[in-house]
Amino acid sequence: MHDDVFCKIVRGEIPCYKLFEDEYVLAFLDISQVTKGHVLVIPKDHYDNFLATPQKVMHKVMDIAQRIGQVLIQMMGAKGVNILTNNFEAAGQTVMHFHVHVIPRYKESDGFRLEMHDNHEGLNLPAIQEMIKSNLE
Ligand code: AMP
Repeated sequence: MHDDVFCKIVRGEIPCYKLFEDEYVLAFLDISQVTKGHVLVIPKDHYDNFLATPQKVMHKVMDIAQRIGQVLIQMMGAKGVNILTNNFEAAGQTVMHFHVHVIPRYKESDGFRLEMHDNHEGLNLPAIQEMIKSNLE
């Protein structure tokens, strides 16, 4: 049994604005509402993060995240959706129970910003390619 906040939500010990539940997955409103309609999708069983989640369960979570993204576009007037999952503290993970953020986007200054800078200069891309590729098999 785990003591993280999402396990407590699954067990009904903490309330949430529930959107969807089945055998594997729970979806509910993120309490911070980074943008209006910000949703979290989690596995009901405890896994620390996306990387630690068995494929079957991960697929169930992503299926629902996709469906919620579609609904946010169709019904909430969102113009776009960011779907992301933080893995480990270094990547901004604060709750150590796998969760996918589904963040509807309305305009650039709507409360969420993702910055991606071009830092490729000076990197040995063939060496990086080889390092990753050779370990995929
Ligand atoms: P992360 O930083 O990716 O680990 O995201 C954790 C998210 O969990 C944050 O966006 C929080 O707002 C959200 N959160 C924490 N506690 C609750 C709660 N009780 N109900 C809903 N969302 C929560």
